[in-house]
Amino acid sequence: MIISGFDKLSLVNFPGVVACTVFTNGCQWRCSFCQNSTLSLGTDPNRVPEDEVIAYLEKRKGLVDGICISGGEPTLQHGLTEFARRCKEVGVRVKLDTNGTSPRVVREMLEAQVLDYIAMDVKMPFETYSKIVNGMADAEVLQETINLIKEYGRGIEVEKILYENSYAREAADAKNDSNSEKSEKKSAGTEKELYKIDYEFRTTIMKEFHDKKTIEEILKIVGPDSPYYLQNFEDSDYVFDHSLNGFSDDELKELDTWIKTKHKHASVRGLKWTDRIGDGTRADDEKVCKIGETTTFNEDRGY
Ligand code: SF4
Repeated sequence: MIISGFDKLSLVNFPGVVACTVFTNGCQWRCSFCQNSTLSLGTDPNRVPEDEVIAYLEKRKGLVDGICISGGEPTLQHGLTEFARRCKEVGVRVKLDTNGTSPRVVREMLEAQVLDYIAMDVKMPFETYSKIVNGMADAEVLQETINLIKEYGRGIEVEKILYENSYAREAADAKNDSNSEKSEKKSAGTEKELYKIDYEFRTTIMKEFHDKKTIEEILKIVGPDSPYYLQNFEDSDYVFDHSLNGFSDDELKELDTWIKTKHKHASVRGLKWTDRIGDGTRADDEKVCKIGETTTFNEDRGY
């Protein structure tokens, strides 16, 4: 696996989990809004050995509870499933970020039970997907990945693989049992259990590509029971197209209210804005949005 970035601590990349993030090199698409264009192009010269990541997880066990494998597109990497398995053996939760182009690899990882969470981008309605990714997009392939994620999100009964992690080994050692079989690093066996992952679908939204109509089409693709998030586009040095525009805080607030009327598990992620004060100017402190606050949708805005 080619890892070109290693963020040792994040509170946002893996919902509810203190996690590190690795960024793999290379992607088959060139999304105009991509925040990691050098990773997308595969030109990032940095290399982080897998062993360094595993050693970090071992060292920080109990403090870092998860790892997010992001990119680039991780499913293009050789050895992805094995790397995730090594992370599971340390005893951390594993999240995969994917563009959905490889249901084969996602299935392989799910069957190996090395994933706890999958986040998949659903960027546009399928008919116009190629416009945003600047490449070929196969609707059947993407839908297959979506269906697979939803299937494992509902849960399937499996012979659960019990990864004997370092905590278990230490517990064995503590019982003066360091020479026993339990102290060896190996699978501890199997048992019948419901294997169920957490998941989300998400869309990075830009004024040039997304309006309410496109979002409603995407909602049909992800289905009524799937967690779904809108994320605002933000320009940075690393995006391909700096002419793109995200939505304003007020527009996001309105969009959040609207989408909740359309889908019971949808919202705008990271919604923050400053409260208006008497004269219409904004307070300095950013405050987290009070979800459900009454807003008025402006049809003329076209989103
Ligand atoms: S946003 Fe994701 S799918 Fe698109 S180019 Fe970047 S890494 Fe690839």
